[in-house]
Amino acid sequence: MEKRIYNLSAGPAILPEEVLLEAQKDLYSYKGSGMSVMEMSHRGKIFDGIIKDADADLRKLLGINEDYSILFLQGGATLQFSMVPLNLMPPNNKADYIVTGAWAEKAAKEAKRVGAVNVAATTKSDNYARIPKQAEMKLDPEASYVHFTSNNTIFGTQFRTEPETGNVPLVCDASSDFLHKKIDMNKYSLIYAGAQKNIGPSGVTVVVIKKDLLARSSDSLHTYMNYKIHADNETMYNTPTTFGIYIAGLVFKWLLNMGGLDEMYKRNLDKAKVLYDVIDGSDGYYKGTTAVEDRSLMNVTYRLPNEQLEEKFVKEASAKGFSGLKGHRSVGGIRASIYNAFPKAGVEALTEFMSEFKKNN
Ligand SMILES: *Cc1c(COP(=O)(O)O)cnc(C)c1O
Repeated sequence: MEKRIYNLSAGPAILPEEVLLEAQKDLYSYKGSGMSVMEMSHRGKIFDGIIKDADADLRKLLGINEDYSILFLQGGATLQFSMVPLNLMPPNNKADYIVTGAWAEKAAKEAKRVGAVNVAATTKSDNYARIPKQAEMKLDPEASYVHFTSNNTIFGTQFRTEPETGNVPLVCDASSDFLHKKIDMNKYSLIYAGAQKNIGPSGVTVVVIKKDLLARSSDSLHTYMNYKIHADNETMYNTPTTFGIYIAGLVFKWLLNMGGLDEMYKRNLDKAKVLYDVIDGSDGYYKGTTAVEDRSLMNVTYRLPNEQLEEKFVKEASAKGFSGLKGHRSVGGIRASIYNAFPKAGVEALTEFMSEFKKNN
């Protein structure tokens, strides 16, 4: 077998090796069917089993009950930036957005095309280096919903707990930390995630929506944009991204086999601690870019003493098999994305490299 690299890319990102090997085994002929999952009807019996399993396994992982529909849509998290306001803004036509980074900004931008957006809180003046406190949020009790981004992929911050929104429905973009830990689904009215960071390949977006919200979806919406149509048709209104759903389903099974999301969370805490400890113990050579209490477990962002050293760091790391470490251009520096599938051994190897690099530079 060819050797795999340490893939620290922010997305599309690393997938579990076990999942890749299983997909490889079944790629040519899925479980004796004589065809690949890519080649079979989305309305056939085999794919029906695959998507039903994915739905059931996701429900098991997060404890999602029958009050919610699970949709597997296309268009990425970006399409959800539009679908959320188009479906959920009415009838009050105003929504609260908590703006904690570039993705949240983009979500708010699309919502403004639909109705009134109240920026309930923003940490832009701190270059998004922290998460706003509950007391800073100016929430409107009449808002149709509150939107927040649970993990800020670019800036390396993460909400530890959900914003408290009273009776106003909570909507979450969880694209870069979905399934990194167990959450209390009862707090959420809608949660969405593009798959390509933590749960599968690009092209499939998971939307979990509380069924009582579906009444808001107006018949005047374009068909694909309408949550109620997708829910009524159990994702099968049109051809869904079958192969992406299949791979996400394998990832759900991988998580269940591991022991579920509490076990995954334990591993994520452990992995992130190894890396942050090296940053904090480096006498200021490596500097985290965010408030310590808001640090992401998924995207670890840090700087070196200067940009020349950062460039050298990325180059030498790449030669040693660590890929995807260059930070987003709006933050600079280094970003190590250590999603669910990234192994602890890889984090340890990275920290060894960091210690060595510091010694030599
Ligand atoms: C990557 C990302 C997006 C954009 O996802 P697409 O699937 O490319 O549309 C949105 N939100 C967050 C938090 C992300 O990390």
